[in-house]
Amino acid sequence: MIYRELGKTGLNVSIIGFGASPLGHEFGTIDEAEGTRAVHLAIDKGINYFDVSPYYGRTLAESLLGAALKGQRQQILLATKTGRYDMDRFDFSARRVVTSLEESLKRLQTDYLDVFQAHDIEFGDKAQIIGETVPAMLKLKEHGKVRFVGVTGYPLHLLKEVAETAEIDMVLSYCRYNLMDTALDQVLVPALRQLGIGLVNASPLHMRILTAKGAPPWHPASEAVVEAGRRAVDWCTRQGTDISELALQFALDYAPAATTLVGMSKVPHVERNVQVVGSRPDPELLQGVLEIIKPVADTCWVVGRPEYSDPEAVPARA
Ligand code: NAD
Repeated sequence: MIYRELGKTGLNVSIIGFGASPLGHEFGTIDEAEGTRAVHLAIDKGINYFDVSPYYGRTLAESLLGAALKGQRQQILLATKTGRYDMDRFDFSARRVVTSLEESLKRLQTDYLDVFQAHDIEFGDKAQIIGETVPAMLKLKEHGKVRFVGVTGYPLHLLKEVAETAEIDMVLSYCRYNLMDTALDQVLVPALRQLGIGLVNASPLHMRILTAKGAPPWHPASEAVVEAGRRAVDWCTRQGTDISELALQFALDYAPAATTLVGMSKVPHVERNVQVVGSRPDPELLQGVLEIIKPVADTCWVVGRPEYSDPEAVPARA
């Protein structure tokens, strides 16, 4: 395993992190016993960063992860979130930050978090996130309940503005640095670097577009993006290669991200994904895929409050 420091936190995180949303059946029904084995295998292979949320499986992912981590909590760094509880149920109030943490700690069977994040801030009110949510999280940091605080979301300009205004340690961005979209590098990374704020990059497989199985029905990307992804997957298959491996190599190679979160619940996925660590994309394969994706590269979608969307965002498909 290779480790990088998360901003100025002093946390050394594995460059591949365990995304636990599939444990909440977010991508379809899973075998929960296998999900537990996937967590154990990930720890054995040196993955030390685990990301979850009360939203994933409406608390199910936290409960499963908490049970799987029993006896191994001290070996890993645990990150969960606050503020999002369902598709359209949000509460970023200071009061809810406190109760949410207590509930998450119970489900996760621990008494502290390494990272606590406001989840999908584009659905909240920016002034509240900066003036109420983050300060409430910082109080919990003072009390030693959480070691570091951050925010997560999709629109890059909003994440940048909040990073420049609120006292946060890290930002989680998803679907904005992978084979389909690299806007993260231009829009958010220069500011984070200057501020010394840590970056977690999520969804290197573009939430399954860059896999043989393809996008789940709820995927918000436009039909053109999904279709370009499909063509790239097929082209890789014809070259005798698996696009997921290339996609992961591409993301893990990106040094500004301390860790790249891949959603995992299956043992073979953990095995294959860990094997990618330390390898680089084949230049010819990479060029072939980028050529196919070029017409839709950096296409992003509207999510959350429309006024917080990035200027070039197009309406979501689902
Ligand atoms: P992803 O791009 O990591 O794709 C996950 C999907 O790919 C799952 O269906 C998984 O089974 C499959 N997969 C994993 N490895 C594979 C392989 N080798 N071959 C084929 N398929 C494979 O998307 P994601 O899960 O949405 O993102 C990763 C994690 O990042 C999440 O689990 C979550 O923890 C975090 N995240 C956070 C936010 C947020 O806070 N707003 C948003 C998105 C993701």
